Amino acid sequence: MSAVYNFSGKVVLITGSSAGIGAATAVGFARSGAQVVVTGRNGQRVSAVGKQCSDVSPNGLTALEVTADVSKEVNRLDVLVNNAGFGLNTGITDPHFGQTFDQMFATNVKSAVILTQLSVDYLMKTKGNIVNISSIAANMTVPSLTGYCMTKSALDMFTKCMAAELGPKGIRVNAVSPGAVRTLARSTRGGEAIEDTDRFYREVSARYPVGRHGVPDDIAKAVMYLASDHAQFITGTILVADGGNLAASVNLTSTK
Ligand code: NDP
Repeated sequence: MSAVYNFSGKVVLITGSSAGIGAATAVGFARSGAQVVVTGRNGQRVSAVGKQCSDVSPNGLTALEVTADVSKEVNRLDVLVNNAGFGLNTGITDPHFGQTFDQMFATNVKSAVILTQLSVDYLMKTKGNIVNISSIAANMTVPSLTGYCMTKSALDMFTKCMAAELGPKGIRVNAVSPGAVRTLARSTRGGEAIEDTDRFYREVSARYPVGRHGVPDDIAKAVMYLASDHAQFITGTILVADGGNLAASVNLTSTK
């Protein structure tokens, strides 16, 4: 991705940036001059993405790599990207439903709420902004992904509430809502054989109006737009980046 935006002098923290969408977002911001904070639980993956960020930084900045408590390491913040998240296939009758429901809420919703709380003072000083990574699953029913869909709906509402509450403090809050993006996807498709995963993305590509599934850079670009000065009048928006999937799924010709 070329450097369309200029984030020089800005500090950008991306949760869950050791892989997938978060990693592409971290590299995109780094290429645009930002000091990025790469986070995740796996130290090796965090370091690998941190190195990629340092390699592309036009300012020679070294990415800050945090595998533990992000709130203790950062003393300036311009952009917070709440990206860490996962979805598990568990039906309501599955005995593990309650447990996976709690885990998904903790990662997909509670972490965003807590990090937002911790970031407000910093973001007020920089007139910064927050981008939450939601999902089109917030707007559709997906069999056995009830818990995941609910977490992303909650995140969308949190985004809008925060836009209203933090707007007067000079902080914008938006979300990007991706469709199917081919990541390592250890979380959602990790248990599947690779040929099943390949088939899934082939079907997605056939169904999506743009003729392909998403890639992490598609989402990184949407995040960077919302985080940039080009979006100064935009807050409380859920920007759908799904190759037209949601629009196509309400196409009445399919009921003929
Ligand atoms: P990946 O599984 O590829 O990456 C997830 C990232 O989050 C990793 O860096 C992982 O790092 C980190 N992470 C997960 N749980 C935690 C945790 N508890 N604490 C800290 N870090 C964590 O996921 P994607 O890139 O596919 O997804 C990123 C976001 O995009 C998620 O919120 C997901 O719901 C959303 N999304 C994804 C879509 C897709 O099709 N891929 C579609 C719609 C939304 P580590 O393992 O090192 O902790």
